[in-house]
Parts: sequence; C-alpha cells; structure tokens
Amino acid sequence: MPKRTPKAARRADGRSHPSSSEILTRSVLEFVCFARVPNWIPAYAGMTSKMTIEGRRRKVSRPLHIRITEPIAMSDTQPQPIDLLIEARWVVPVEPHAVVLEDHAVAVTGDRIVAVLPIAAARTTYAPRETVRLPEHALIPGLVNAHTHNPMTLLRGLADDLPLMVWLQQHIWPAEAKVIGPEFVRDGVELAVAEMLRGGTTCANENYFFPDAIGATYRKLGFRAVVGLPVIEFPTAWAKSQDEYFERAGEVHDSFRGDALVSTAFAPHAPYTVSDESFARIRVLADQLDIPVHLHLHETAHEVEEEKAKSGLRPFQRLQKLGLVNDRLIAVHMTQLTDGEIAACAEAGVSVVHCPESNLKLASGFCPAEKLRKAGVTLAIGTDGCASNNDLDMFGELRTAALLAKAVANDAAAFDAASALRAATLGSAKAMGLDAKIGSIEAGKQADLAAVRLSDLETQPLYHVASQLAYAAGRHQVSDVWVAGRRKLAARELVDMDVAGVLARAHAWRERIAER
Ligand SMILES: [Zn+2]
Repeated sequence: MPKRTPKAARRADGRSHPSSSEILTRSVLEFVCFARVPNWIPAYAGMTSKMTIEGRRRKVSRPLHIRITEPIAMSDTQPQPIDLLIEARWVVPVEPHAVVLEDHAVAVTGDRIVAVLPIAAARTTYAPRETVRLPEHALIPGLVNAHTHNPMTLLRGLADDLPLMVWLQQHIWPAEAKVIGPEFVRDGVELAVAEMLRGGTTCANENYFFPDAIGATYRKLGFRAVVGLPVIEFPTAWAKSQDEYFERAGEVHDSFRGDALVSTAFAPHAPYTVSDESFARIRVLADQLDIPVHLHLHETAHEVEEEKAKSGLRPFQRLQKLGLVNDRLIAVHMTQLTDGEIAACAEAGVSVVHCPESNLKLASGFCPAEKLRKAGVTLAIGTDGCASNNDLDMFGELRTAALLAKAVANDAAAFDAASALRAATLGSAKAMGLDAKIGSIEAGKQADLAAVRLSDLETQPLYHVASQLAYAAGRHQVSDVWVAGRRKLAARELVDMDVAGVLARAHAWRERIAER
C-alpha cells in the first residue's frame, strides 16, 4: 500500500532529502466539489495537488472548496524502488467516479499499480527504474472492449449496407467457411491487437471459433483477453457435434487455467442458434468452472418475434426458464427490452454490453442504455466485430454510446461523459468478471493504462478532461499504452510487434477472400 504521507530520505545517489525534523507543508488540497463530499476523501487526505469532480455541475449552484493546509511530517525512509513511474498532467482513475487528479503519478512495480499520488510526493517516495513524463496527457485505464470477434478484422468492409441476416447468411458465413482455421484466426487477432493498442484498448472479450489459437495469439502478444468457448447448434470447422463443442471447450479452458492474461467464458452464439439442451449444459459447466456466459441477446426485434413464434417465449424469458439469467450472463446488444426485463437484469446482476455502432450499421435497434444504467445494471461497451462496425475504436464507440443514449432517452443529461468512460473501462471489466484486476487506476490493480495527448488543436481549449475524452478526443491521440506494466505503445509506435508482417498477412488474406 502506498504511504499517504510522503517521507523524506537520503537517496541512493547521495543527494539530500529533507530530514525527519523538516516539515513539508502540504500544498493545498483544493477539492472542487459540486455535490456532497464523498466518503473517499480520507484516502487522498495525505496527498497534495488538486482534484476535481466533473459532471455534476448541473445539480448545485455553488462549488464547494475544501482546503487542507496542515503540515506533513517527513521521515528518513529510503525511497522505495519501483519499476516505473508515470507522471501525467491528469490521471482519470474512473474509480472514484468522475474524478480527475491533476499532476499525479502512477507508480508501477511488475504488472501492478503500487500507488496513485501527486507527482511531487511520488518523486520523494519512489526510486523508479524508469520514469515516463506525460505533461500534456490524460492517463486513463486501458479501454476494455466487452464484445468483439477479432479474427473478423480480416473481413473489414467485405460486405456493408445489408440487413443482418442477409449480411450474415449470404456474405459473412460463406466467406468464413472458405478461410476459417487457426491461421486466419491468428492473423486476424494480430491485426486487431495492433489496432486496439493504437486506440488505447488493453483488453478484449473475444467471441469466435478456434479459441485455442485465439488465446495463444493473445498470450504471445501480451494482450489481455477473455476468450469465448463457442457453442452453436450446427457443425463448423471448430467442432462437428455438440459433444465435441463441449469437449473442446473444456480443453481450451484447461489450457489457460492460471494464465496471467488470458481467461475463458462460454460463448453460446445466440438463442436462435443454441438449443435448450446445450444451454442447460452451459449453465452447469459455467458454474463449475466459475466463468461467464457471453451471448448475443435481443439483437433485433426479428429475433424476439421469431422466438415467440417458436416457443411462445421471448428469448430472455427462455433463458430465465433455463436458469441462465444470473450474474454470469454477459448479454450483448439488448436492443429490445421491456421495463420488466430491465428490472430482472438489475436484480439478477446481468451485465449488458452496448454495441451502438454495430446496432446502427445493421439497423438492429437501440439499446436503452440510460434506463439500464439508472436501474443499476452493469453497462459495458463493445465494438462488435470489424465486419459490422468497421473498426475497433473504443473512443468512437463510447462517444456514439453517450450520444445515442441521450437521443433514445430524450434527455441531454443522460449517460454523461464520465459514465461513458466508466462503461468503456470498469463497466466492461465488471461484465467480464475482471473488475478486481482492471478497469480503473487503483493501487493493487494491474497496470493496464493508456495515455491520451490532449494538447492537440482538436482538443483545445480544454475546460473539462472527461468531456474532452468523450466528445472531442480521438484514438489518434493515444500516445502510450501499457498492459500488465509492459509498454506496448510508445509515442504511437507499437514497440514489440512486427507491423510490416501484420500488414503483409492482412493483404494476403484480402487476396484470398476477395477472389471467392
Ligand atoms: Zn457480435
């Protein structure tokens, strides 16, 4: 745990630090709050510098300023060695909600965040092996893409401007049938990881065939992912029978047990392609293996009507009957929801992944994001696959989510900037069962971080950091990214990927797929 009071010491280089008799007058903790004082203040009471809470200005007439000026005693403790100190103009921790920490640093050792504290205090508390200074940047938790089919990055732009079923049945599935296999999956994921890192994304909830090859690729590239174990009611190149789907799911799960970056979830495709019997098996196995169930659900009105005609139930009701509406369920899309279903999601702890751009592009409908948020449902954001988006840009996605939520709710105050950023980080992490590890910048969590340069003319002048991130910044402003404490992007350069090779393989697949 970080020390709340920075302690002076003599550094290894012999330069003098203030002795214990000296007193560092705590610089003003200026806390500009527009609502009640939250209960997390004591956690920061030893820190210097300035914090602001954004996004609550509408509710009160006058800001509350708290100034704390009592001195902090210094001690003779040696600076603590750490691997990395990232000093940023702003740190947006996401938790506490809607807080922006000015001139703060994030201390990292190994794969973990050790402390979040003011830069001045960090410089006396820690002896970092490496210091990265980001004087014009906001440091945010790495974005978490809660629903994607990343091998399909190789099908980007193959068939556009078509209805969902025509798109899927006449274009995507035939193309996949021709090329699908471990090599296609590996090269698609590799291209996707390069794109995601350059967009500030550090974790993906994957849903595609050949999860063995997918997981191995993520592991090799040092990228965090939850890999879906596919179940679908017809034979594919991955498995020929229901038994084989489950057998292979078990093998893949076992092969990633205990992995630092890759874990698994069941990924039944959708209610209209999975039988009651398979869902029943998934329910039991997901409980036994303690993994989530990642499922497309209520993507379109047509899906709901079709199920009603078949079973007399809405797909959600059918899942309730099968015991799958619980806190393991990651329900993707959810454009068709009754108030009762929203309440049931909240009560059962279901997470909903909002994929607004895919829903818009396929004219699938609108997820009632603000209603879900207000009901207390965990809301996550995903891009969906590149064949229906057509990018993996989580900045674009969270902006679309925020804008669309306002239109759907007919309320400009709906789904504010801080809430959109939260959904794209901690919300997604929680949906995937990873919120104890990632999704916010807090001591003890994994150092999955992204720096966004806000000095560009596109994000000037700057009044509110969260607004700028949600409504003005683009992924091209992501400068640096770390996954589990390892630098993956430095000044927009991918530090450990063969970019020329990634592009060459993408071009080769394009030639093969286009000639069909
Ligand atoms: Zn999808």
